Amino acid sequence: MALNATVAAANSLQETLYGGLDFSSLTWLEKQWVAWYIWIGNPIIATGLMSFLMHEIVYFGRCIPWIIIDAIPYFRQWKLQPNKIPTPAEQWECTKQVLFSHFTIELPAIWLFHPMAESFGMTTYQVPFPSWKTMVPQIFFFFFFEDLFHFLAHQALHKGVLYKHIHKLHHKYAAPFGLAAEYAHPAEVFILGTGTIAGPILYCYFTQNLHILTVYIWITLRLFQAIDAHSGYDFPWSLHNIVPFWSGAEHHDFHHMAFTNNFSTSFRWWDRIFGTDKKYLEYRARIKAAKIAMKNASKDKQEEMERRLMEEVEAEGQRAEAEVEREFSNKKTQ
Ligand SMILES: [Zn+2]
Ligand SMILES: [Zn+2]
Repeated sequence: MALNATVAAANSLQETLYGGLDFSSLTWLEKQWVAWYIWIGNPIIATGLMSFLMHEIVYFGRCIPWIIIDAIPYFRQWKLQPNKIPTPAEQWECTKQVLFSHFTIELPAIWLFHPMAESFGMTTYQVPFPSWKTMVPQIFFFFFFEDLFHFLAHQALHKGVLYKHIHKLHHKYAAPFGLAAEYAHPAEVFILGTGTIAGPILYCYFTQNLHILTVYIWITLRLFQAIDAHSGYDFPWSLHNIVPFWSGAEHHDFHHMAFTNNFSTSFRWWDRIFGTDKKYLEYRARIKAAKIAMKNASKDKQEEMERRLMEEVEAEGQRAEAEVEREFSNKKTQ
């Protein structure tokens, strides 16, 4: 009897969501999509659950290779700050904080995103999926929008009260690692997360043409970008060595080490246009010049030189950070 009732409910849901649809024309993935929505039995729960699971699987799934790489000394030759390898205790501490913010801030935010985006015209349970030709330009727009938003909001987070009470937490690691990508104050997750989800919301408001699958692909790529940018490694095959305007770890690692410059996420152009990469470019030029000057010196001597330059930049960064905090407390006491 109970089984009959369940089957009847599933049939009526199928009729409501997918009535008149020719199932034989669907791809394998589209069939799984339909099966998920019918199995869960409630589109809001089905979408919310899938989104949260996707975020967790992609985030930690992408961090695992970096945890393994950190444990293998062979890879140190490509570590941007080779004398700073995260310890397992540090990584675990970071994981706990990240999980806490995933369940307290991101879970409700992810859950709320769908009804909100749906009310702006986004499709969720519907199949067939949009074509690649539709998805690719949309994803490019989201990358562009997020990068610009982040460039501006991140600079604001480096000032006074916003730094002291919010962004300082993310700067705990002067030599970041993959897991540290989302290690941030809940308010920062909310502020910078806006850059990730406002693009899709604005887009579907104006065009009424966006499927949540496109948003999933976008979020997956954005998570890859953020985790890789914090990985601390620059390989010869890293994307920025192939696409020169891509930021990557080589760009963002400097932001953590020097506390300044390189505020954008995916692309280098805004920092270049507004000159917020001046110190970074000078640092790279100094390393390059020193390497040429020392090309006949021993490997140890070269490494020693690089370490000294890094320490100088880091010390300068610590002074700049103290300055921001001092400005804030001066304002407070005035
Ligand atoms: Zn910062
Ligand atoms: Zn960072």
